[in-house]
Amino acid sequence: MFSPFEYKRPETIEEVFELLNQNDNSQIVAGGTDLLVKLREAESSPDFLIDIKELDELKGIEQENNEIKIGALTTITEIKENKLIKDKLYALYQAASEFGCYEIRNRATIGGNVVHASPGAEYGVPLFALEAEVEVVGQNGIKRLPIEEFWYDVGRVKLDNELLKSIIINIDKNEKSSYHRLSRVEGMDLAVVNTALVKRSDNKYRSYFGTVARTPYQNKKIDAILSKENFNKKSFKKIQDIINESVSPRSSSLRASPEYKKRMVVSLLKKCLRDIGELGDDIDG
Ligand SMILES: Cc1cc2nc3c(=O)[nH]c(=O)nc-3n(C[C@H](O)[C@H](O)[C@H](O)COP(=O)(O)OP(=O)(O)OC[C@H]3O[C@@H](n4cnc5c(N)ncnc54)[C@H](O)[C@@H]3O)c2cc1C
Repeated sequence: MFSPFEYKRPETIEEVFELLNQNDNSQIVAGGTDLLVKLREAESSPDFLIDIKELDELKGIEQENNEIKIGALTTITEIKENKLIKDKLYALYQAASEFGCYEIRNRATIGGNVVHASPGAEYGVPLFALEAEVEVVGQNGIKRLPIEEFWYDVGRVKLDNELLKSIIINIDKNEKSSYHRLSRVEGMDLAVVNTALVKRSDNKYRSYFGTVARTPYQNKKIDAILSKENFNKKSFKKIQDIINESVSPRSSSLRASPEYKKRMVVSLLKKCLRDIGELGDDIDG
């Protein structure tokens, strides 16, 4: 059951801060696809709901020099249909294609996905692998910080009466990228596990695995193997050994056992390598 709350739809960022200052127990809402579930299940009961969908400063996808900036209010459909994203940041296009269903993609925003900071969120592993930065706007102006500093634990991001304004990715650094996920039901279920891989322009790789740790997981030893060796069955055995030794996914997960997750992220990594064109057909999937 929803508790009663007052609904506001400010048109400027300044008005958002005024409302946040006036009401201690207020909550920002963008697409509402995470928040409304929480309200319905009484996990959150704000007195004020501040709908930020009118804020033009938080919308749109644009390229400025060597950076692509994605406004926090950009919907998953907008990402999926954007040519710049498909051409330059393929992993983000793939994540949008795997995301939810048509109706959810039309409402859900990339900003809401990042702020919700769920371990299996579609935009966890690819944004970490792409070394994304976030722009946060507060009453004292705008600051920019790396995503791994911003998104620091399950459901926890560094926001203090502030808004996530945009996500910024350097396209010179990131040459090719790929994302894959495994889910129990296609589309309408969160990822059981997910994996993103980026080949940088200096020929180094960055890989991230989702749902095996509290935040998207990177192991630099794996990236060194990917960056140095010709891929073969032996390399994958080493990567699997590193995953087995270094991560311990939660055993209470309803979606899959830790052992299954650990095997599947490596299998998804193979798919990513195939997308990037670095894996011969002789390696089993
Ligand atoms: C049926 C269904 C299917 C789903 N499928 C998937 C899926 O396949 N993959 C996946 O990753 N997720 C999935 N989700 C979860 C959800 O849709 C996403 O996490 C979505 O991106 C959340 O965005 P939103 O705009 O709806 O966020 P909201 O629900 O509006 O907000 C989420 C949180 O972020 C805060 N917030 C939002 N925007 C900002 C901002 N700019 N600044 C500061 N705080 C902000 C809100 O206060 C709230 O705490 C699904 C949800 C449902 C109900």
